[in-house]
Amino acid sequence: FDAPIVLWGDEPLAPYHRPPLSKGLLTGKTSVEQLALRGPDFYAEQQIDLRLGLRATALDAAARRLQLDDGSQIDYGWLALATGARCRPLPVPGAHLQGVHQLRTLDDALAVSQALGECTRACVIGGGFIGLEVAAALATAGAQVTVVESQPRLLARSFPQSMSDYVAGAHRQRGVVLELGRGVRALHGSQGHVQAVELDDGRRIDCELVVVGIGVLPNIALAQDAGIACSGGILVDATGRTSAPNVLAAGDVANMELPAGSGRPMRVRLESIQAANDGARAAASVLVERPQPLAAVPWFWSEQHDLKFQMAGLPAPDDQTVLRGDLASDRFTLFYLRNGAVAAAHSVNRPAEHMLARKLIAQGTRIAPEVLADANADLKFFSTSARAAG
Ligand code: NAP
Repeated sequence: FDAPIVLWGDEPLAPYHRPPLSKGLLTGKTSVEQLALRGPDFYAEQQIDLRLGLRATALDAAARRLQLDDGSQIDYGWLALATGARCRPLPVPGAHLQGVHQLRTLDDALAVSQALGECTRACVIGGGFIGLEVAAALATAGAQVTVVESQPRLLARSFPQSMSDYVAGAHRQRGVVLELGRGVRALHGSQGHVQAVELDDGRRIDCELVVVGIGVLPNIALAQDAGIACSGGILVDATGRTSAPNVLAAGDVANMELPAGSGRPMRVRLESIQAANDGARAAASVLVERPQPLAAVPWFWSEQHDLKFQMAGLPAPDDQTVLRGDLASDRFTLFYLRNGAVAAAHSVNRPAEHMLARKLIAQGTRIAPEVLADANADLKFFSTSARAAG
């Protein structure tokens, strides 16, 4: 892409990796320096003009003009909206006490890290990926951790009951206390600092640190106010095009059209780095006039305690599930078959199987359940690329 590129971001920092914020940064395995998305020279080399600490406040899509919060305006040829999402606020009294944190930005993670050094008891509100990764990191650092989740099971948006039960068991075994199917009525403090979380049954959990991870809201206001079609995110096609000419969108904010087939939803707003990368690549293909619609199998990963979760594909409620491996050993893959073909797979500490599952899903490979379940059956031979190579 030959034209000049200007990149605005409302954080004062050059782009950085967010996934380690709720994992390695809290446990000290990852340093702040390691988070940089690119080296210091990259942007200049690529002729990308970084304008940091600036917020876009209005968009005139017909005039192709963007308004910034320093009063300046910019006319664009193409505009890519990657405005992401923000944390859902906790709607209870006491949510603004000191010691109550969310986790989305580097500043948030550094604040949790610092608070962790001064706390022995922590409460995490929300049992999604953020909540569980943070709970694992806090427990690893020696805190006594309670997770409060309003759903009756963990990770209910991503996992079926059997996986939720496994995750709950794994956290409990590693010392995390779970309060499932429980809401939060209020946070209580003393001298402005949080001291306890009050559950909806009246019980109180004493703690010096609270981390709230109760989901995110896509940042659609700029697009919506400009008349761009939005519904649960900015609506984009499989190449990231929005309803406005010359405006693309990608990442957590984009509600993207998926390739048709295999009974998956036609549209989905996926909140993961891999979906952001794939969506951005599809959008960039439009900019270089070689449009390549999104085709990749969605995948995700999470690290909690000594467990590496890798998820490929999007399971549907009616899929047949087949377990390969043993839950008790913390090394297994749960496969999801749809009409006999591998449609999704959730692995724990089985990286090679996850990589293979992605190929099987992409190829729509049909495998008999008893073969999938047989730990001695070599699944590599079901992958056409492996067959061609070997
Ligand atoms: P999430 O996955 O939506 O999970 C939030 C959980 O908190 C949901 O189960 C939600 O239940 C529950 N909840 C809502 N209100 C509550 C309340 N008042 N009290 C207790 N529980 C409540 O969101 P998240 O964990 O905050 O993660 C934020 C974003 O970061 C997501 O986009 C996530 O996918 C992403 N992320 C991804 C990874 C990864 O891929 N490894 C890691 C970290 C974060 P309801 O569904 O009923 O609201």
